[in-house]
Amino acid sequence: MTRKLFVTTALPYANAPFHIGHMMEYIQADIWVRFQRMVGNEVHFVCADDAHGAPIMIAADKAGKTPQQFVAEIAAGRKQYLDGFHISFDNWHSTDGAENHELAQDIYRALRKQGLIGERNIEQFFDPVKGMFLPDRYIKGDCPRCSAKDQYGDNCEVCGAVYSPTDLKNPYSTLTGATPVLKSSDHYFFQLSAQRCIDFLREWTSKPGRLQPEVLNKIKEWFSVDEQGHVALNDWDISRDSPYFGIEIPDAPGKYFYVWLDAPVGYLASLKNYFAKTGSDFDAFMADPEVEQIHIIGKDIITFHTLFWPAMLHFSGRKVPDHIYVHGFITLGGDKMSKSRGTGISPLKYLELGMNAEWLRYYIAAKLNAKVEDIEFTPDDFVARVNSDLVGKFINIASRAAGFLSKRFDGILASDHAADGTKLLQTLMTQSHEVQRLYEEREFGKALREVMLLADRVNEYVDQNKPWELAKQPGTDARLHEVCSVCIEAFRLLTIYLKPVLPALAREVENYLRVENLSFSDADKLLGKHVIGAYTHLMQRVDPKMLVDLLAAPASAPPAAVEGNGAAEDDPGGEAIAETIAIGDFAKIDLRIAKIVSAEHVEGSDKLLRLTLDVGESKTRNVFSGIKCAYKPEELAGKFTVLVANLAPRKMKFGVSEGMVLAASHADEKTHPGLYILEPWPGATPGLRIR
Ligand SMILES: [Zn+2]
Repeated sequence: MTRKLFVTTALPYANAPFHIGHMMEYIQADIWVRFQRMVGNEVHFVCADDAHGAPIMIAADKAGKTPQQFVAEIAAGRKQYLDGFHISFDNWHSTDGAENHELAQDIYRALRKQGLIGERNIEQFFDPVKGMFLPDRYIKGDCPRCSAKDQYGDNCEVCGAVYSPTDLKNPYSTLTGATPVLKSSDHYFFQLSAQRCIDFLREWTSKPGRLQPEVLNKIKEWFSVDEQGHVALNDWDISRDSPYFGIEIPDAPGKYFYVWLDAPVGYLASLKNYFAKTGSDFDAFMADPEVEQIHIIGKDIITFHTLFWPAMLHFSGRKVPDHIYVHGFITLGGDKMSKSRGTGISPLKYLELGMNAEWLRYYIAAKLNAKVEDIEFTPDDFVARVNSDLVGKFINIASRAAGFLSKRFDGILASDHAADGTKLLQTLMTQSHEVQRLYEEREFGKALREVMLLADRVNEYVDQNKPWELAKQPGTDARLHEVCSVCIEAFRLLTIYLKPVLPALAREVENYLRVENLSFSDADKLLGKHVIGAYTHLMQRVDPKMLVDLLAAPASAPPAAVEGNGAAEDDPGGEAIAETIAIGDFAKIDLRIAKIVSAEHVEGSDKLLRLTLDVGESKTRNVFSGIKCAYKPEELAGKFTVLVANLAPRKMKFGVSEGMVLAASHADEKTHPGLYILEPWPGATPGLRIR
């Protein structure tokens, strides 16, 4: 049966670009959503900017912009992150959109009709200079207990005392420095402590499978009742006074909804906005009892999503969420990554360094489970998982078989397999259901472990059959053909199992295999006799240096000129551009595309690697290259590079070098280490001249 899924992530606050925590949540949700699409379910996956509230109003004011302009600029920067990390939202909207104003006001009116909106006069600090009531975070003063200076309005960082802002001694507004005055105002409250709300929430939260057990444990305390018979859950203050950037409360001039009231309504608003674009019926969809409404959120916003939001929906006569899936934080060295402290990983820097987004998707997926646990980002672990598992185990299967198939068998797969191959493929196909179960349960780490165990089985098969030896022996053509075909069939099955995590890579594999849009139902059958395309290398290994660059603290000031190295500012790469030459001079140098057939260490040399190169000639060339400091031999085999093909052969201690491979480096390798060999764009073949 096809499920109908309405899935959201939390709405990011529109006062800053995304940080790595956002990307972790989006990647996690995206994997689950892509899996659901791959098993044929109907999924609507939406998000929006959370645009309202005092912090945005104040930040916009400081920047000399209207809140609308400020939010629009933040929103314009979202796409590069979402596209960059292959996040497949169907729609991105804003809580300042017209749909949200209308829906939030409708929900409020319905709650009022239910008799669940109360009015109460409260006293709050007011900034007389700014002319606005001050949220707690904009009030500081001396701690009422230890008198420490400059403490926030809710707790003391020195002695740990907890208090309310009105308890502070010598309070001041952090916006203007003015002494705040107490001023009273009427506020609206959602009466969550009403018995019918408590009854509903007890029932809603306890439905099996709706909340993770640890989440239920955490919120249960809100339903506890003290000796006087008061429930721990309080009524919720949902109004703020003008000036405020938000949605006006109906029939209450100068009053706005507190941002957390209209933020989750943004889930519905984004879906409604999306359905309007696609011509679907929003009201009919939300009235359909088969629709499953799922919110994927971080552990810091549990109470909003498990208490306030379901109660708002239920008592306004709307569909309630079916599942709230809560995740932990991503940490680095045990700390939650925080932009304000300048720690952590910048998602944009990650992309700018040329790091593959799917490395991070794979790494995060490999660490995730269905519990509310933090995951720790460890650079060594990142390199190991990507290089050993993803590339070493998975990609390697295709690269070991692809060459023989295209060169010897015109890319046609053999459909008859001997018993060992048949058994291997059968094992892989049988595990499809287990892999699907694990994705469904959001046990992504376990799913990937399962897939890597299968990849191990395939690599054992390759090692047992040694296609590279079959290729040299006479009369073993049929066996070579069969073994390589089994490898490609296995590679296709594993690609299906990894596709929710690696959508872009899967697309390249689909092109290579000449198949369309692989889904889980494709794992029930094999390709059989089928023509595949030409193989191009699918994924690079991580260079550990990239992690060093990624985690390097951002420069706080432009780097000062380095003294004493003699290089002037205008010397790119540490040296001046060489003397001008004529085109004829350049033409004397014959540069060719070369394929690195193999690479190996040179005994007795700590600088050189011996490269065997295919330059499209009748025989391969032997070239010694001083790149051992930067590359491992196994990283190079199969890659393409650029060779100076007409350099006079040079006799060296280890043998004759028949050319020179090009690499980039700084003039001063001591202060600027790093050596980078050149690689052509995909499609170049051995022997093509560079001109
Ligand atoms: Zn104190």
